[in-house]
Parts: sequence; C-alpha cells; structure tokens
Amino acid sequence: MSESERILDQKGLRITPMRLLVLEQLLVQETPSGLNALQTALPRADRTTIYRTLKTFSENGIVHPIENGNTEVKYALCRAFCTASEHLDKHPHFHCQTCQRIICLEALDVPALDYPNGYLVQEVSMTVKGICAQCQP
Ligand SMILES: [Zn+2]
Ligand SMILES: [Zn+2]
Ligand SMILES: [Zn+2]
Repeated sequence: MSESERILDQKGLRITPMRLLVLEQLLVQETPSGLNALQTALPRADRTTIYRTLKTFSENGIVHPIENGNTEVKYALCRAFCTASEHLDKHPHFHCQTCQRIICLEALDVPALDYPNGYLVQEVSMTVKGICAQCQP
C-alpha cells in the first residue's frame, strides 16, 4: 500500500485514481499549494475535479485550508490525528513576504482569547506575515 492509499484508507475514504493523484502531489510538495499550483502540476486533471477532491480532503481531516486574505486558499496536509468532524491542527501559519511560501507552524498554538459575551466563535485562523528563517540574511 502506498502512503496515499494508506491515508485515504485511514480516513475512511474510497481510493480513487483522482484522489491518489492529488494526494501524491500534495505529499511531494514542500509547502502548501493552492488550486492553481495543483492544476499546473496535474495538467491532465480537470480544475473542478481537483477542487472537489480538495474539498473532500478538507472535510475528512486530510488537508486544512489556509485562508490568506489576498491570495488564493492554500491547502496543507494535516497531521495524522485530524478527523472528519474536527481539525485538531489549529496552528498559526507564517506567510513569508520574500519567498511567498506559507509554512505550517505546527509546534505553536493559536492563542485562546476571551471573546466578549454574546460572540459565538466558529472558526479561528491565524496567518502571520514576515520573513522566514531561510530568507533572513
Ligand atoms: Zn487538520
Ligand atoms: Zn522565505
Ligand atoms: Zn497548517
């Protein structure tokens, strides 16, 4: 069994050629990729199908979307313990302004805040802008 097959199997998803294709591509890339990069890497795959595959992965704890305001949504592989109902990898993301990479800061936690009464928080995401270690002089 390949690593992609193992991941799909572990999350209870049916193994299809398209899912394997997208997952294998995500596994070989060092940084989270968005739909555009995936489509460039997989020229024979249909954009809508790639999008739907990412959505399925996201709903099943295989990838987590990184919303970044001004660029397209990027998808990063989750750590093994994310489940379909809950993404447990609530870590900050670092957006390097020099190399434009987005890096999962998995060792850090998104700080818990005391929200004012009456505010029901549904989702928290944290993206930090700066210059990554590789780009420092
Ligand atoms: Zn996750
Ligand atoms: Zn950088
Ligand atoms: Zn991440």
